[in-house]
Amino acid sequence: MADILDTRKAQIHRTGLEPFEMACEKNSLAGSVSQRACVFCGSRVVLYPIVDALHLIHGPVGCASYTWDIRGATSTGPRLHRMSFSTDLQEKEVIFGGEKKLYESLVELIDAYEPKAAFVYSTCIVGIIGDDIEAICRRVEAEKGIPVLPVMSEGFKGTKKDGYKAACDAIAKLVGTGDISDISDLSINILGDFNIAGETNIIREYYEKMGIEVVATVTGDGRVDQIRKAHGAKLNVVQCSGSMTHLAKMMEEKYGIPYIRVSYVGIEDTSKALYDVAEYFGNDEVMSNTSKLVEEEVSRIMPFVRKCRKDLKGKKAAIYTGGAFKTFSLIRSLRSLGMKTVIVGSQTGSKEEYEYLRELSDEGTILVDDTNPVELSKFVQEKDADIFIGGVKERPIAFKLGIGFCDHNHERKIPLAGFIGMETFAREVYGSVMSPVWQFVPRKARGAGGKSEEVVA
Ligand code: SF4
Repeated sequence: MADILDTRKAQIHRTGLEPFEMACEKNSLAGSVSQRACVFCGSRVVLYPIVDALHLIHGPVGCASYTWDIRGATSTGPRLHRMSFSTDLQEKEVIFGGEKKLYESLVELIDAYEPKAAFVYSTCIVGIIGDDIEAICRRVEAEKGIPVLPVMSEGFKGTKKDGYKAACDAIAKLVGTGDISDISDLSINILGDFNIAGETNIIREYYEKMGIEVVATVTGDGRVDQIRKAHGAKLNVVQCSGSMTHLAKMMEEKYGIPYIRVSYVGIEDTSKALYDVAEYFGNDEVMSNTSKLVEEEVSRIMPFVRKCRKDLKGKKAAIYTGGAFKTFSLIRSLRSLGMKTVIVGSQTGSKEEYEYLRELSDEGTILVDDTNPVELSKFVQEKDADIFIGGVKERPIAFKLGIGFCDHNHERKIPLAGFIGMETFAREVYGSVMSPVWQFVPRKARGAGGKSEEVVA
């Protein structure tokens, strides 16, 4: 591993070649430009898809521009979440305090937009100057009669995962405040799907076809009143486990609601998710509806998947995601397309998740935790990957190196969840890997992977 910082080596592993001991869940190394997002970003991505709430970022305007407007979380109703409100702290507030500005901004915005609730995000500078945002939130809540929830997400105080936790703590204050008398015994909450390109609605439709009531979607296309009633559901179904397991555990402790982890990425995992929920309820009609749904959907998309597999067989992929749980499903999805994963990593994976990744991966696969662009670029070149599956920060790496890219993060505008998502994923991967444009880029022209002659000719 030449050119890898010594202090980073414990977070990189090649499967099968050395004893497995993956260092993870630690602060990013100073001097390594991490692909990770900050604590505030972690809170924001989780909470913003609550579409009828006001989201106010207490900090400099730059924080407000970070990560939101490129995100694809849609709504079937209100679109207040698309607004990026900021208190726009300036030098004056940094010296004399920003509480007055926060109070005035909150009052003005609540009067103008009449939201169902308000979330107030603390950023780095607020943590430094020490504004008491909790006190301001309490005051405005009493004056305006809606929940005004502080989100303690100062960017510097940990990793993106700490931001998820701060978001869950804020949501937990809403849960348990609504009427649950009319909720069915066959009911769930969908946790950790962010309705990117309408994905939550695709999943909700599956459950409704199975005969299951969806009480709250936390947080894709989320509504404050639904979240208030979420404690009435009989099961929490958690997709993005990195962000939502904390909330699921709190609800299990407080309300006795069990939770299961699922993934809606790929044919295998989507089918398993639906069957797992059906099995939990042990209801014959639900099980028969589930079998019918899975059979219909799988037979509809398989001819296309087979067609893609013919050309994609043997192609190589690199994967880098926020949480590690999604990488399991992506490796399986790529296998169903005949492809091999040669690099896989995440910003916030746990020891157990990396252990499972090691078992799932082919020998020689590079596993990496909290990496940076220099490392990723080296690994992609070394493994001669044909496509990078990642998010907005991985896209330039792929394009600069002259390989295909598939956006599997929150910025995309196409659904990649559920059965229809597998069809879209296959189309995206196929279109990118098989594009004739790659024959003109330096990687192929240089002859990487021994393919130069026939391609350049
Ligand atoms: S909270 Fe801090 S780290 Fe996050 S965007 Fe704002 S200034 Fe940057």
